[in-house]
Amino acid sequence: MTQRGVLRDTYNRTIRDLRISITDRCNFRCTYCLPDTEEAANFYQSSKSPALKASAKKKIIHNWKPKSEILSFEEITRIVKVSSSLGVNKIRITGGEPLLRRGTESLISSISNLGIIEDLSLTSNGSKFPSLAKKLKEAGLTRITLSLDSLNHKNFRRITGFDGLDDIIESIQLAKALDLTPIKVNAVIIRGINDHEIESLADFAIRKKIIMRMIEFMPLDSGRTWQRSHVVPGQEILNRIKSKFSLSPLPAQSISETASRWAIGNSEAEIGIIAPVTNPFCGNCNRIRLTSDGKIRTCLFSLNEHDLKSTIRNGASDYQLASKIKEIVFKKEAGHQIGKTEFIQPKRSMSSIGG
Ligand code: SAM
Ligand code: SF4
Repeated sequence: MTQRGVLRDTYNRTIRDLRISITDRCNFRCTYCLPDTEEAANFYQSSKSPALKASAKKKIIHNWKPKSEILSFEEITRIVKVSSSLGVNKIRITGGEPLLRRGTESLISSISNLGIIEDLSLTSNGSKFPSLAKKLKEAGLTRITLSLDSLNHKNFRRITGFDGLDDIIESIQLAKALDLTPIKVNAVIIRGINDHEIESLADFAIRKKIIMRMIEFMPLDSGRTWQRSHVVPGQEILNRIKSKFSLSPLPAQSISETASRWAIGNSEAEIGIIAPVTNPFCGNCNRIRLTSDGKIRTCLFSLNEHDLKSTIRNGASDYQLASKIKEIVFKKEAGHQIGKTEFIQPKRSMSSIGG
């Protein structure tokens, strides 16, 4: 390695966490991320609402990035190696649905074989995980985060457009059996959609002995229909759980922890409340993101992105690549503007940024 250093931005935040989206494609159509139709994007309106035209049922065509624009696994591994020389020690592979990309386990293996990443995790909707779990574990995956927004088959399908509840439950079991722990399960809580399931999701966490993280809905949906009124504030989620279960606070594991953490009763489960809208944690953010087409995003809500792919494909040395990453990090925004009049939703949805 040619350059030693640290990734620090102008606000003196040190970057340790790189989230890598390896595909913008997904087989789910979550209403809050990548809705399939205008009707699904406008989930809060009745399907009979006069505001929805007949065309609202027509499938939205998503223009996936062509393969030539997507970083190869070799390019991604090189970026990880160079970033780690600058202090990055936490990698999360995400998407889109990362397990739709053929050979994800070989990327995990290449990153793991670098021998320098302390925490190598993956976020998945669970649909392909059961058939790949063992390979991923053998390749060096250390833990997994799965997404589960409803415990009701019909509601799960309404939210995700896919009949995947059984797969995700199987995935949780398998992840446990393979010790891909701590297992985190994400639920995006949306008013009128799944907020009535908050307590049953907490109860599920107890039964499965997992970390259930309830997340506020963020304005990163491709349908661009997000409204503040759809957000269930973290404090409200917490109060609801507290009214049914006894919760005691757990200490933050690091300064850049995004969730407030709670032990639940005497169980081995944990509840995490992630409230980026009502309680932003930007001041301690230690993350940057790499999109599948090779752009660095210094914030989920960045309006500008920085091209690393052309730097790599134009033959940059490791030293030049490291200098470019340092330069980019220096431009990291102070924080997001949700809730302010100047807020502008980024062009990319969560599915093509990588959550
Ligand atoms: N497809 C995988 C999955 O769903 O787990 C990985 C990618 S997904 C973009 C990563 C996480 O982002 C998921 O847990 C998902 O629930 C969350 N997410 C997507 N859109 C969101 C939004 N608008 N607000 C909050 N969380 C969102
Ligand atoms: Fe796909 Fe994940 Fe977005 Fe759902 S949240 S549409 S599973 S990328």
